[in-house]
Order: sequence, then C-alpha cells, then structure tokens
Amino acid sequence: MARISDELLEEFQGIAKESGIEFKSRQEAWESANNLVNFFDVLVRIDQEERRRAARLKDEPKGFAVPGEGRTCSLCKNYLDDQDMWYDKWGLKCLHCQEALDKKLIPVYVFKDFDNKEHANASTLSWKLGVYPTTIRKLVRQRKLKARTVPGNGTLVFLRTENPDIVAIIEAEKKAMEQRKIAKAESR
Ligand SMILES: [Zn+2]
Repeated sequence: MARISDELLEEFQGIAKESGIEFKSRQEAWESANNLVNFFDVLVRIDQEERRRAARLKDEPKGFAVPGEGRTCSLCKNYLDDQDMWYDKWGLKCLHCQEALDKKLIPVYVFKDFDNKEHANASTLSWKLGVYPTTIRKLVRQRKLKARTVPGNGTLVFLRTENPDIVAIIEAEKKAMEQRKIAKAESR
C-alpha cells in the first residue's frame, strides 16, 4: 500500500479525467489507484506462477501436482482448495478429470476449449441455456444426448461432434415441458 507518489496520483487523476472518470476527492482517487495497483500485482503473480510451472514442465514433461488453493478445474468447474490439481501442457485440472483424460474417456482438446466451441459440461449447458440439470440428465437417459462421464465426480461432458444438434434438442425439450405445464394447468 501507499506506493503511489503524489506526482503519480496527479497523473492518474488526469488520465482518469480524460477517460470521463472524475473522483470526488483525492482520497477516492488514491483508493482507486491503489486498487488498480493491487489488481495488477495479482495479474503479475498469476503470470509469474504460470511461467514457473511452464519452466518446470521441461524437466517433468508428464506434469506434476499443484495445490488447488481456490482454483477451479477447467473441465468440471469444481472449486478446489485443499485437494491437489494436476498441471501439464494442457493446463490445470482436478485429479478426477486428469484420470478421465489418462484413461482416454475424454478427448484432450476439451481442456483448451475455454469458450465451449467444441464441448460443454452439464452445468455450463444448464446455466447458458436456462435448463435444469435434471432435464439434461433425462435427455441423456433417453439417448437424445450423448454424454461422457468423468468417473469420480460424475461430471457429464458433451462433445459437439457427438451432439451436433444439442442446442436444438434442449430448446425443443424446454418447449415440450412448457406445453406439458400449460396442459396440466388447463386440465385442473
Ligand atoms: Zn475436474
């Protein structure tokens, strides 16, 4: 804290003003500048950690365990704190998802498919398409959707290649559910 000189603060306020941001007081400007400095500190730390891990990968190409410490698995999205994760050239993932990868139950590309172009898990589909996870599981049971399961945590993973019409199928089911609801209300 308090590494921001008066001179720097003046400059910060000037640039902020040019961008249409005006601070009510010098204190407010200082707090803002300070938050920004802390934010960049975090970014730099994340970057340094990533560089350290990438360097270590040269000696340990198969990867190594890293403490979870509040990170999230890139595939199942589970939050990991006390548990270890596994790091390799495909990034950080929980040990269950790593095992699924090692056993070739899940193709490796899903771990770099951050914007869900080639895959999605059930919870991502659930919040993105506004559908209950139970509905997704029902569609899997009915074989309308094909899921791959991560043993150990039960995460359902849907590949675009295996479910080219996944959005249409889920939307159709949502509509059918809505109609069933209306029919039920009318029959009362
Ligand atoms: Zn996972």
